[in-house]
Amino acid sequence: MLRARPALLLASALAVPALVAGCSATSAADDDGTVQVLASFYPLQMIAQEVGGDRVSVESLTPPGAEPHDVELSPAQVAKVSDADLVLYLSGFQAAVDDALAQAEPRDALDAADATTLLSGDGEEHDHAEDEEEGHDHGDADPHFWLDPSRMPAVADAVAEHLSELDPDGAQEFAANAAALDERFAALDEAYRTGLAECGIRTFVTSHTAFGYLAHRYDLEEVGISGIDPEAEPSPARLAEVSDVVRDEGVTTLFFETLVSPKVAETLAQDLGVQTAVLDPIEGLADDDADYFSIADDNLEALRVALSCS
Ligand SMILES: [Zn+2]
Repeated sequence: MLRARPALLLASALAVPALVAGCSATSAADDDGTVQVLASFYPLQMIAQEVGGDRVSVESLTPPGAEPHDVELSPAQVAKVSDADLVLYLSGFQAAVDDALAQAEPRDALDAADATTLLSGDGEEHDHAEDEEEGHDHGDADPHFWLDPSRMPAVADAVAEHLSELDPDGAQEFAANAAALDERFAALDEAYRTGLAECGIRTFVTSHTAFGYLAHRYDLEEVGISGIDPEAEPSPARLAEVSDVVRDEGVTTLFFETLVSPKVAETLAQDLGVQTAVLDPIEGLADDDADYFSIADDNLEALRVALSCS
């Protein structure tokens, strides 16, 4: 079963005559023989590429090197949302993508929030189904689930299911690719669990509060200088609170990230006489040679150094 949102089901129903006219077969494979997948940002793009392999063409709505929270879509990109066979997105994370999907008519759309569970900003399990029933948006859900590798296989498996509906001939390949990818997520999860088991400090300070899932999974505490939105400027009161944590907990390192200016973290680190280092929220690729797994490895190493893990 394709699990489109009610609005999308309605849109799809209205679009049936066009679909029947445009598609001669049940397969969504396009003129070049591939399923056209549009992912809204990098971690979902990576999953689509790994699971779909050569049978899919994957594009991202967030340009490489751009910060995905505040992405804006051009009219051409909005048109791509309508043309896609499958749109992969995370509701409540990128308002422009939610808006485009409310009007567009892709063949299928998969909301990662329906495949995995999200945490609230305060680190509690967030009940997405309850949100839907009550008609809330997901304003208080923390979107950054991909930083907990144990939450990724459910999304990879859902992508494999949706691709199999669109391209039934590829079903076995999609399932095998998803299983191989899930093993890599499991190995990464194990590396984090063992690598962060014995540490001198369990508190880490980041420039934007992206690592709540990582902290939740591996029993660490994240203190974010700014909130879940990386562009939010921290107040003087927040800077004072963070400074107290740094002194009280013996924090050695303030983490900043690749796609957002490090200025606030650097200034604060200088004031406090501590170091800065990169912890990448893997929201987009700043470097072509990197990928989800290489960045996750680098993040683990940076955490192990900053937290004095043995
Ligand atoms: Zn973020």
